[in-house]
Amino acid sequence: MYKRQLSKRIKQLEWLKDGIISNVSHELKTPIAIVKSSIELALKEKDRKEEEKFLRIALKAVDRQLNIVNKLMRIAEIETSKFRISPKKIDLEELISSAIEEIYPLALAKKIHIKKSFKGNLIVRADEEKIYEVLINLLENAIKYNKENGKIYVNAESKEDYVEISIRDIGIGIKTENLRKIFDKFFQEKPSARESKGGIGLGLTIVKEIVEAHGGVIWVESKVGRGSKFTFTIPKLPDVGVVSSYRFFTN
Ligand code: ADP
Repeated sequence: MYKRQLSKRIKQLEWLKDGIISNVSHELKTPIAIVKSSIELALKEKDRKEEEKFLRIALKAVDRQLNIVNKLMRIAEIETSKFRISPKKIDLEELISSAIEEIYPLALAKKIHIKKSFKGNLIVRADEEKIYEVLINLLENAIKYNKENGKIYVNAESKEDYVEISIRDIGIGIKTENLRKIFDKFFQEKPSARESKGGIGLGLTIVKEIVEAHGGVIWVESKVGRGSKFTFTIPKLPDVGVVSSYRFFTN
């Protein structure tokens, strides 16, 4: 690699490391502290119901931690060019339905109704696990940034040589000036809300990488106070086995 590219790359990695330290370390520490104190309380508790309550709090914190660690591992994979997709024939209708099913308890907790609609042949060649990750990330955000009693519309439609999938919420929306930054690493409109919402600003970066590795595109339309709509495409016959090592040279 050329010297100039190498030094640019080193700067990028330093920036990433600083980002992880300032944005993520706190997010990693908080769940551990919660797990520790909840387990201590559960051990002292005589009432079975109370004990269970503390254990459930611990479990939720472990899930949150696992989610952050998984995202960090994905970013590490992407940054070290180890990110690959393994495409096989998948039915998007089935995959979308199971992602909605998995996310359903989260939606229920906020009384959010999810409506899905499918049109045409939704069989594509794609990496099932990674497209599932895209769907879960977008659905989680559509719940997180939605209002109580809100709605989410999930649509998948077969176009000529690709499938278009959109996830629309009626939540807080995104400021126009931030729309361009929304897929950037660590970008969060309200970092102060990080603790309550439990995010680290890496989800959409990963989502974009996965979609692009499939040869697809992703975009967002949004209006503050009205909601957001994320749309992405998956080509029906993608250039299989694409590796996102291009980042090495273009960033
Ligand atoms: P996280 O949710 O962990 O903060 P993401 O990368 O998934 O990270 O999202 C980055 C930021 O984009 C969020 O912090 C939020 O400000 C904004 N955002 C993402 N999805 C939505 C949405 N559906 N509605 C409003 N804002 C959103």
